[in-house]
Amino acid sequence: MRRRRRAKIIATLGPKTSSEEQISALFRAGADVFRLNFSHGAHEGHKERYDIIRSLEQQFNRPIAILLDLQGPKLRLGEFENGSAKVLAGNPFRLELNNTKGNDVSASLPHPEIFAALKPEMNLLLDDGKVALKVVRCGADFAETMVINGGVLSDHKGVNVPSAILDLSPITEKDRIDLKYGLDLGVDWVALSFVQRPEDIIEAKKLIEGRAGIMAKLEKPSAIEHLDEIVELSDALMVARGDLGVELPPEDVPAVQKQIIYACRGAGKPVVVATQMLESMIHAPTPTRAEASDVATAIYDGADAVMLSAETAVGDYPMESVAMMDRIINRVEVDPIYRKITNAERREPENTAADAISAAARQTAQTVSATVIVTFSSSGSTTMRAARERPNVPILGLTPNPSTARKLALAWGVHSVLTPDLTSFTEMVNIALEVAKMEEFAVKGDAIVVTAGVPFGTPGATNILRIAWAE
Ligand code: PGA
Ligand code: MN
Repeated sequence: MRRRRRAKIIATLGPKTSSEEQISALFRAGADVFRLNFSHGAHEGHKERYDIIRSLEQQFNRPIAILLDLQGPKLRLGEFENGSAKVLAGNPFRLELNNTKGNDVSASLPHPEIFAALKPEMNLLLDDGKVALKVVRCGADFAETMVINGGVLSDHKGVNVPSAILDLSPITEKDRIDLKYGLDLGVDWVALSFVQRPEDIIEAKKLIEGRAGIMAKLEKPSAIEHLDEIVELSDALMVARGDLGVELPPEDVPAVQKQIIYACRGAGKPVVVATQMLESMIHAPTPTRAEASDVATAIYDGADAVMLSAETAVGDYPMESVAMMDRIINRVEVDPIYRKITNAERREPENTAADAISAAARQTAQTVSATVIVTFSSSGSTTMRAARERPNVPILGLTPNPSTARKLALAWGVHSVLTPDLTSFTEMVNIALEVAKMEEFAVKGDAIVVTAGVPFGTPGATNILRIAWAE
């Protein structure tokens, strides 16, 4: 089963996509990676979906990546006397650390870290930015504010404090429990929400110990300030436009999206564009023109993957949403302008053997009109470097490691296949040709370009390039 498209699709699973039939339909429509969103739902539900995905892998004989998304330090208001309250622009409004129930002039905010970081003039955004407060006076357990934008507040609505760096671990108690649960299941990627600093990634690395790839969600202005370091430390990145668009004004989001993609492309780290991509398809069978254009733009920008959230988790048209994304991506990828932009944006190889070989593989494939670049890589790192080159032929990522094969499902242009460990040069060429033919990447007479490392079995030692012809 071969997909023609290079960029990948991530589908979030939820109440509307929990049965084997539904998840299978999403996969067949084009989902390459499934997101289990631990902000919602119980462990049992996630495990059921996890098991279904693994059985689909068997059924379709294709590696599928599973992304566990941790809730992170999502900040929330306490409760209100009547469940909700109405706040009016221009009125004073008080926030209290203690748990007294809120009303029209005050609310509980049970997060000492927020009060510790607040300063007069700072803005607090409530309920996805619908209500805005400006701090007038504050202390360790209270803040007197002025309502800038009024609205209705209710129990446990989200709180964002864009201009403050909060003294919060990106991994809460709940996250630790969820993380252990997910790693024990065997998830391939872990997404960290509300990353603020490079240290946050280091802390996550200590907990994850290489059992899954780390995807940093960029949704805080402070993370953008440390972008290069965070990109360097992470295995993949997400432009998490939902919260990013609350923390930053909407006009900043497109430029930040391009800035993040540019940084990730330079570093060769997979980058995902997420949230509201086909938002109107939650309730309609077709997207708006602007949404179609948004998905296309992410692909022209160079994203490895685009993500669906509510569209597939709770929407009325989950399969149609994936199918629509699939069509939009395919359409962009045959546009000659897409190839022109991609070539123009190509970054120079870094000073390593793997990059020298990857750049040479791209060039060689073009010169001899090869139909595929075949990489042998146990960790997948050389395959990722080949993807960084954005060659004009697909990449067949061969690996003996099932978790690598699954992780690579996220990477641009990569079709991964599990193969046995190599023992000889002849075997390398034979396996490459055999898999290329079997997976429909080459027919008799086609040239293929193969990269690997000798001596075989030494990780991270890619140092050879071979051209072979299919018979
Ligand atoms: P979320 O993250 O869906 O978990 O909030 C993505 C985003 O904020 O865009
Ligand atoms: Mn978010």
